[in-house]
Amino acid sequence: MRILVVGAGPAGLYFSYLAKRAHPAWDIRVVEQNRADSTFGFGVVFSDRALEFLRGDDPATYQLITPQMEPVGTRIFGPVPRELRAKNHMKIISLAPEVL
Ligand SMILES: Cc1cc2nc3c(=O)[nH]c(=O)nc-3n(C[C@H](O)[C@H](O)[C@H](O)COP(=O)(O)OP(=O)(O)OC[C@H]3O[C@@H](n4cnc5c(N)ncnc54)[C@H](O)[C@@H]3O)c2cc1C
Repeated sequence: MRILVVGAGPAGLYFSYLAKRAHPAWDIRVVEQNRADSTFGFGVVFSDRALEFLRGDDPATYQLITPQMEPVGTRIFGPVPRELRAKNHMKIISLAPEVL
């Protein structure tokens, strides 16, 4: 089987990884229009629910990635919210369900 994956976003890369893992003999090529080192300055965030799905469906990948993950705070309180608002870091504030 020869497969060409157009786009090296999370979907293309994860599909390619799973397909190759399940079928090592398959010839899978990934093409990406952007340069290998181009970045847009954001990371991938997994909700607790998404991690549950991953652990159930693909425990090997779950074991590989979870030690690398950085925790996301769920509460922001004290003088920090004032400073975040003053500097208009609304993305950070929007990640926390509770801002005191
Ligand atoms: C500004 C911004 C911030 C975000 N921040 C976060 C975040 O913090 N956490 C989070 O979890 N999600 C974030 N997201 C969402 C996340 O980026 C998407 O959910 C995710 O990238 C979708 O993955 P995908 O593989 O489906 O598509 P994409 O990531 O869009 O991947 C598709 C790839 O295909 C390539 N491509 C398209 N057409 C061609 C072509 N003709 N030839 C070759 N290559 C092609 C594109 O260049 C791209 O690399 C953010 C999105 C944006 C826009």
